[in-house]
Amino acid sequence: MKKLALHWKILIGMLLGLIFGFIMLQIDGGKNFSDDWIRPLGTIFVKLLKLIAIPLILASLIKGISDLKDISKFKRIGIRTIITYVITTIFAITIGLVLVNVLRPGDGISEETIAKLTDTYAQNSGVQDKIAEATIQQISGPLQFLEDMVPDNAFNAMSDNALMLQVIFFAIFLGISMLLIGEKRAKPLKKFFDSLNDVVLKMVDLIMLSAPYAVFALLASVVVSSGDPDLLLALVKYAGVVVLGLLLMITFYCILVATITKKNPFWFLKEISPAQLLAFSTSSSAATLPVTMERVEEHIGVDKEVSSFVLPVGATINMDGTSLYQAVAAVFIAQALGFDLTFENQLIIVLTALLASIGSAAVPGAGMVMLVIVLESIGFPADKLAIGLALIFAVDRPLDMCRTVVNVTGDAAVSMLVAKSVGKFGKPHVENWDDNYDEVK
Ligand code: ASP
Repeated sequence: MKKLALHWKILIGMLLGLIFGFIMLQIDGGKNFSDDWIRPLGTIFVKLLKLIAIPLILASLIKGISDLKDISKFKRIGIRTIITYVITTIFAITIGLVLVNVLRPGDGISEETIAKLTDTYAQNSGVQDKIAEATIQQISGPLQFLEDMVPDNAFNAMSDNALMLQVIFFAIFLGISMLLIGEKRAKPLKKFFDSLNDVVLKMVDLIMLSAPYAVFALLASVVVSSGDPDLLLALVKYAGVVVLGLLLMITFYCILVATITKKNPFWFLKEISPAQLLAFSTSSSAATLPVTMERVEEHIGVDKEVSSFVLPVGATINMDGTSLYQAVAAVFIAQALGFDLTFENQLIIVLTALLASIGSAAVPGAGMVMLVIVLESIGFPADKLAIGLALIFAVDRPLDMCRTVVNVTGDAAVSMLVAKSVGKFGKPHVENWDDNYDEVK
């Protein structure tokens, strides 16, 4: 019998997880059972993915750069990547703003719903934590992000997944220095990192064997911890606008892929789908990164010289889904609370949502922290922030899952565009998890 493709297995796992979660909600003690016996399986899987993220970035970026024949090529890749990321993000924010202004989901929210949402969530620790986190982010000066990017201790940087940009900085620095000392002298180090890279990619394969079971656990846990269904329903129009915007973004990437790389967009979606499904299940582009890299390099054919830079950088700074969501959410909150927004306010949203998506961490819920900063930039009263966030809190997790899919798809699409533009788009070369298994046996 033909083996079922990975994305189908993952989809089946997700569906069964959803059904299982709903059943657990109906059963007395079902939530506790799921928390005690199911949730840990999902958490272990996410931990495994995060475990290999730093070694993978380090090995693949150093390999990617040291494979380049000269540094000017790296400069070309770098500049094109950053410019494309900024353009796609501005496009995403614009789509969000147009949709939310035309469809006005905030107008239909009754006083009663606002009061109910505020009562339920305004004092919730989730909302209060997000506001507190945003305050810390804001105290920093304008060049803080550059300062934060440069590590003062390489090992320290590698010991914390939140310091991914510092690891990227160190890897680029090391890779460029390897180029500069010449092939012969850099050879031992290069061999080491080449081999480390192969090993870590094999680890991705092995971890992915458990993906269908892990997504079952992840989705079951999301369902058992979801909020009051009545409140979810009240926000259906707002959620619909965000999802519509996200779907338009996916269409936009498909058009870019088709016109610039001349590849069939459905082929692109099929090959990248395991990464998308994981992004949806984990709500974290950082946790999905190893799988995104594996899919883009082996299944799509983007050269490592491009993907090793474009994808880790994209996971941390390019978040089109998050920025679109921030634009929609900020205007929705303003509409619902009767706070008038001028055209100038909307331009400020474009700018701050762009910066906020660069500053958002690639972890669940990060987009909501930065939303506080977007709201404050348009003069939203500080004492109403908790009420504003309370309005959208109930649907934040499902929307986080959807926007993470767009964040990951955007990174993958841009890596293809950049690869094509520098002549680094080759043929897929799929490796199976069990290559060499017989020899080991
Ligand atoms: N969860 C998103 C990501 O990891 C960030 C966010 O929008 O909250 O890409």
